[in-house]
Amino acid sequence: MNRFFLPKLLYRNYEFERDRYIEVNSEGRIEKIGRTRELGSTELNSAEILEGIVLPGFVNSHSHAFQVLLRGMGDHPKNFHDWVKSSLYPLVRSLKTEDIVTATKVAYAQMLMRGITSVGEFHYLHNLHPEENPEIENNDPISIAVIEAAREVGIRQRFLYTGYDLGNKPGQERFHRKAFEVIESLNYLRKKYRDDPLIEIGAAPHSLHGASEEMIRSMMEWAEQNSEVCHIHLSEQKSDVEESISQFGMRPVEYLEDRGLLSSMMAIVHGIWLENSEINTLLTHGVKHVYNPMTNMHLGDGIAPIRQYVARGVVTALGTDANMDPDLVMEMRATEYLQRIEGLEMGIIGAVTDDASPAMTLYKMATVNGGIALNLKVGVLDEGYYADFIVIDPDHLNFGGGIDKYFLENLTLSTTISTVLKSVYVGGEQVFNREDGITKIDTSELLKKLNEIVKSV
Ligand SMILES: [Zn+2]
Repeated sequence: MNRFFLPKLLYRNYEFERDRYIEVNSEGRIEKIGRTRELGSTELNSAEILEGIVLPGFVNSHSHAFQVLLRGMGDHPKNFHDWVKSSLYPLVRSLKTEDIVTATKVAYAQMLMRGITSVGEFHYLHNLHPEENPEIENNDPISIAVIEAAREVGIRQRFLYTGYDLGNKPGQERFHRKAFEVIESLNYLRKKYRDDPLIEIGAAPHSLHGASEEMIRSMMEWAEQNSEVCHIHLSEQKSDVEESISQFGMRPVEYLEDRGLLSSMMAIVHGIWLENSEINTLLTHGVKHVYNPMTNMHLGDGIAPIRQYVARGVVTALGTDANMDPDLVMEMRATEYLQRIEGLEMGIIGAVTDDASPAMTLYKMATVNGGIALNLKVGVLDEGYYADFIVIDPDHLNFGGGIDKYFLENLTLSTTISTVLKSVYVGGEQVFNREDGITKIDTSELLKKLNEIVKSV
């Protein structure tokens, strides 16, 4: 049976609409948005009133959920490579499936508490801890556990199964799979979750240093054949470019193009150290871009040439990557502020677009562009899209301003989203509200488990 919602204020197509209803079908999609006066009395009486501003939920296009366990650990590595060696890989070696599940639920609960309703989970931890029982029914118990964690918490997930077949550093043995095994797993998972509207499966060759040409090619072809997305880490560190030049004689995007490995189903993640010619190449092939500025700052990666991406019309979406604090409002803010610091100017990103407001460009990155990068019907409140929406309280000191023409500026640059968020819905189902918190799981139990893991690793 269809359900009805009555938003006090609906923010849609960058404008406020009053006296509207949202009709949601059994699949959790928006069947219709219409005028309240068109509703019959039965629908009106059964409708749920949403007291506040209703917006599409934010779309997190890149996450490694288990990395929440790195918080506070190895606080002061010298650089990215030292962080990988001294923090990331030792953690990876110690984790059992149950720990990964707890970490994933923590990350996803926090995302919902910040209005993130869908996530692209770039998952590369495939092989079990040596002490875990290898008698298992399928090849991918960890992947399945991470997907089930998303279902339990109630967040929409594009599970990006990662292919990683290079490297022999301690820790990397937990990532390794051969290309044919990866394709088998992709097919298995895609079939297993075919009827679940909350879960979609995508491909993710890890990076040029983690995935062979054979791996990237087979995953890209799988994505093309199945009309699914294919994400790859690219040019995060300056050294990624240097390595590509010394190994292939070309910069990373040039290498992918030269080998015929670019497609419109692809998104590059990070894309920090790109030359303008490489950004043009991405545009030519319809490749999308996912930017994670908070993590890039945390790891000292660098600042992506966002103005060049935006000016050329490459679709840039945002992600929370290492999930130190998974908050897309902060990612929007960091995207703009890093450009200001680098360029010693203000209002930089919006100035190179036709968008009506500078903040609109940032807002698109966290909503509609995320839907494009993940190939999900999310980030927009319209017929056919999922009913993934958030309700925020404009009558709050932390909202940062009124409901006026500067709404998006207030939202992107001034608001503390976690304090103004009243409720969150995924597929029309409430998964968070301010009074009860996360509705589908017991977060106090989760906290106990988290504390036990943090003590033991
Ligand atoms: Zn990443």
